[in-house]
Amino acid sequence: MKRSKIASLLASDSLVGSEVDVRGWVRTRRGNKYVQFVALNDGSSINNLQIVFDMNRFSDEQLKPITTGASIHVTGKLVESQGKGQKYEIQADTLEIYGTADETYPLQKKGHTLEFLREKAHLRPRTNTFGAILRVRSALAYAIHKFFQEKGFFYLHTPLITASDCEGAGAMFQVTTLPLNDLPRTEDGAVDYSQDFFGKPAALTVSGQLEGELGATAIGEIYTFGPTFRAENSNTQRHLSEFWMIEPEMAFYDITDNMDLAEEFVKYCIRYVLDNCRDDIEFLAEHYDKDLISRLEFVLHNDFVRLTYTEGVEILEKSGHKFEFPVSWGIDLQSEHERYLVEQHFKKPVILTDYPKEIKAFYMKQNEDGRTVRAMDVLFPQIGEIIGGSEREADLDKLQQRIDELHIPMKDMWWYLDTRRYGSVPHSGFGLGFERLLLFCTGMTNIRDVIPFPRTPKNCEF
Ligand code: ATP
Ligand code: MN
Repeated sequence: MKRSKIASLLASDSLVGSEVDVRGWVRTRRGNKYVQFVALNDGSSINNLQIVFDMNRFSDEQLKPITTGASIHVTGKLVESQGKGQKYEIQADTLEIYGTADETYPLQKKGHTLEFLREKAHLRPRTNTFGAILRVRSALAYAIHKFFQEKGFFYLHTPLITASDCEGAGAMFQVTTLPLNDLPRTEDGAVDYSQDFFGKPAALTVSGQLEGELGATAIGEIYTFGPTFRAENSNTQRHLSEFWMIEPEMAFYDITDNMDLAEEFVKYCIRYVLDNCRDDIEFLAEHYDKDLISRLEFVLHNDFVRLTYTEGVEILEKSGHKFEFPVSWGIDLQSEHERYLVEQHFKKPVILTDYPKEIKAFYMKQNEDGRTVRAMDVLFPQIGEIIGGSEREADLDKLQQRIDELHIPMKDMWWYLDTRRYGSVPHSGFGLGFERLLLFCTGMTNIRDVIPFPRTPKNCEF
């Protein structure tokens, strides 16, 4: 017989009364000598399907291997359930045991801590919590492609290995095939990279933006969606060493167009999750974050507040609030500052613009005041910065001048400057951290819990 997924069995009435075939992992078994009940989960949904074994037809010996974690294959009749808690159940006709799970199976009981499960990241997808998170993650990835594709954006694949070390978004992981314990040296004692794989130093990318600009200034509107690597030694709940980023880049967009797109985009994603992952979101809300759904709805139904960095700093200075890091014009805002503006002051998502040029990247469009650039950061409750973006400097001379001021090594970056040298256009873009959006959508608080296999300093297991 053809296998049915539990999600589709529970969603339709048309199969009631018919013979079905289900396969999955046992969550629990209970019962008495007349009847045994097995809660089966196949990962297609948060919901288990109840299998009823009539012990006139099955022996204790046959059911003995059905312990938590075992995998089984059952055929039987789908019927409306007599018991509470489920709409349908299966009256088992046949049973096949695929694989047993003895008492060493680590996920015996419910209610393990998230910390414990992080050490069992190879098996945690089998828990309700991580099943829910992985399904939401997949749906959100689909929503992202859907949003951009329906708007006519093109999906651009930017390289993961790069030789430009001026991106400035964060510390990089070096990529080399040189023997580390016997490095070739030049005459002056430096490492001789001409003998390395690419003939020069290379690293894993911290952002696809610069190549994204090449795409946008040719085919108009592009987005990237791929892994990004940062060798920052920051052990926070919001940083990973390997994370996924979405980076749209658009020709002919100014900063306002950019903000409009960012707001529309995150609202679309949140709406998609609410509409398509309801059971999982309700499960996560019930177990981890009672306010989750109201917070998601709240973001959907409110305009994001837009103000300048300078105005934001004034609000923080006047707040009288004691921050761990003191506030003054020119500082790089910390998460506590961002969250104060969002959670205490405005009680809405905030887009801050026009940051001091010293704390932002060289490619951002310079304002007339000579002090600020046309940057925009989108700040969210609980998370702080979820999006960072800007209008880009389109003027070759101004861009070159900034590069000189910052002593950025541009010799390998001639190709980037060609976008400004030939047919330069106003353009903008932003980067959204996929896992930060997932934190917001799932109500999880640690970024290690929204990616299947987290990489953080000193942690590269599984
Ligand atoms: P932060 O100040 O929080 O470290 P950033 O300013 O370094 O962020 P950008 O370089 O602007 O961030 O990257 C764009 C987006 O990528 C951020 O808005 C955030 O959502 C996400 N992001 C950045 N660094 C990380 C990281 N280490 N792990 C997960 N997501 C990240
Ligand atoms: Mn960072």
